[in-house]
Amino acid sequence: MSNSSGICCITNNAEANSSITDNTITPLNLLSDNLASILNVADFDFFSDAKIITGDRKQVSVHRCILSARSSFFKNMFGGTKEKVTKRIDLKEVAKDYDVGFDALNVVLRYLYSGKIEHKGVCVCVDDDCSHFGCWPVVDFMLQLLYASFTFQISELIALYQDHLLEILDKIAIDDILEVLSVANICGKTCDKLLRRCTEITVNSNVDITTLEKSLPQPLSKQIIHKRNELGLNISESLNLLHKHVNRIHRALDSDDVELVRLLLKEGHTTLDEAHALHYAVAYCDVKTTTELLDLGLADVNHKNNRGYSVLHVAATRKEPKIIASLLTKGAQPSELTLDGRKALQISKRCTKAVNYYKFTEEGNISSNDRLCIEILEQAERRDPLLGEASLSLAMAGDDLRMKLLYLENRVGLAKLLFPMEAKVVLDITQIDGTSEFTPNLGGCQRTTMDLNEAPFKIKEEHLIRMKALSRSVELGKRFFPRCSAVLNKIMDADDLSQLACMGNDSPEDRQAKRRRYGELQEVLNKVFHEDKEEYDRSAISSSSSSTSIGIARPNNSKIAMKN
Ligand SMILES: [Zn+2]
Repeated sequence: MSNSSGICCITNNAEANSSITDNTITPLNLLSDNLASILNVADFDFFSDAKIITGDRKQVSVHRCILSARSSFFKNMFGGTKEKVTKRIDLKEVAKDYDVGFDALNVVLRYLYSGKIEHKGVCVCVDDDCSHFGCWPVVDFMLQLLYASFTFQISELIALYQDHLLEILDKIAIDDILEVLSVANICGKTCDKLLRRCTEITVNSNVDITTLEKSLPQPLSKQIIHKRNELGLNISESLNLLHKHVNRIHRALDSDDVELVRLLLKEGHTTLDEAHALHYAVAYCDVKTTTELLDLGLADVNHKNNRGYSVLHVAATRKEPKIIASLLTKGAQPSELTLDGRKALQISKRCTKAVNYYKFTEEGNISSNDRLCIEILEQAERRDPLLGEASLSLAMAGDDLRMKLLYLENRVGLAKLLFPMEAKVVLDITQIDGTSEFTPNLGGCQRTTMDLNEAPFKIKEEHLIRMKALSRSVELGKRFFPRCSAVLNKIMDADDLSQLACMGNDSPEDRQAKRRRYGELQEVLNKVFHEDKEEYDRSAISSSSSSTSIGIARPNNSKIAMKN
C-alpha cells in the first residue's frame, strides 16, 4: 500500500564534483549504506543508546553519538551533565507545534545517518483522479518533514523542504495553505520565503475572517487582515454592522449554547443563514451542538457561504461521519459544487490518507472515521439502489406490528454487534437511546415467533415511537452502509434467527441447537468479512499502483547537489 516516491536523492553530483572519482564515491556510498543499515533493524539494535518517541506514539532506537555529531539540537539534548543523561526524547515535548509521525521522523533520521533522502511510505490520498502533488496527505508529510528538520536544526533539509513546498504551493487547496503558513510561521526566519509567499496568497484569497482567526495565530491573522485593509481587499464583513450580531451567534456556539443562539435569533438582527451558523458549527463545534442546531430547522442545509462552500463541503474536511450523515438526512445535496468545481466527496477523499482508509484493525471489522465519511458520501451520491430492497426485507416480516418490531429490534441489535462504528453513527442520528427497547418478554410472550403471534399483545405509544426510531435506523443503515446491510439481510432472512436472538426459557437441547446455529452464522460472517477485506485490499493495491509513478517534486529536481 505504501508507495515509495523518491522525491529527491541527495547524492554526490558527478558533474559538480568532477574531481571525485569512482574510487572515492564507492567507499562513501558504502559508508552511507552501512550507517543507514543500523537504523531501525529488528533483529540487532547496533548498540543503540537512546529512543525517540514519535507523535503517533511509536519509538525509534537511535545512537546518541551519530545524532550529536550531525545536529546541534541532538548535541544539546544528549550532552547533559554527568548526573543526568538524556536517553529518551519525546517529540510531543520537543516538537509540540506540529505532529511528527514515525514515517517522517525516519526520513529525517535516515538523512542524518546516511546523508541520503528516501521518501518511503509517503502517503497519498484516496482520490483516484488526484495527481497527489498537492493533496493534504502529501502536504502534511512535507510539513512534518519541514518541522522536524527545523526542530533538529538541519538547515540543508529546511531549505530543501521549503523549496518543495514553494514549488507545489499553486496546487495546494487554500485551506491547506493556511496550515503551511502556520508551520512556516513557526519556523520563522529559516522559512522566510515560504512565509512571505503563503501570506501573500492568503491575503489575496477569499478566506473569510472567521476562518483566518480560527486557523492562524492571532498576530498572523491580524497582519493578513491589516494587509487586506491596506490593499482595499477586505470584503465589507469586518465593517458590517451585522458582523457584531453574527459574532454573538458564533460565540454562543463556541460555548455550545444552542438555546442562546435561539434567543439571539429572536432579537431579529440576523438569521442562521446570514451568520453562516451551520458552516461555523460544522467546522468548529462538537457533534451534539451541531445536531441541536440542525434540529432547530431554522437554517438551509444547502446554504453556501461567501466562499461558495455548502455546509456539506465544510463537513467533508471534518472527518466526522455523524455530522455528514445528519446533514444528508436533512437534505444536504452531495452533488453541490464549490466555486472551483469540487464535490464534498472529492474534498473528503483528498484529505484522507490512503493508509487510514485501507487500514483494517486486527478484528477486521471496525471501520475508521475516515473510511465511514467517504463511504457515506459515496453512498449518498449513488442514491442507494438497495433502498427498495430494504422495504422488501421489512415486508417479509409481515404486516404484524409485533413481528415488525421484533424484526427491527433483532436487526439493530445484530448491527450493533457486527458493525459497531457504523451502527453508532446511525443510532446517534436516530436518537434511539431515547426510546425503550422492545423485549419479546413483554406481555408473557417469549421464545418463538409462534408464541408471539398467539400471545395477546397491545401496541402502545412507546412501541410505535421505538418502531419509528428502529425503522429509521435500518433505513439509514441501508442508505449509508449497504455493505453491512447486505450482511444483515442475509442473516435476517434466515428464518430461524428471531428464535436465535430471543432469550427465553430454553431447554438444554434448544440451547445446544442455538449454539450450533450461532456457530454456522459466525462462519458465514467470517467469510463475508474475508471477501470484503480481499476486495478492499485489491482496491488498495490498484490505487497505490496507480500512484507509484507519481512523485512530489518535478523530475528536474530529482537530484540535489550537496556540498561536502
Ligand atoms: Zn492525492
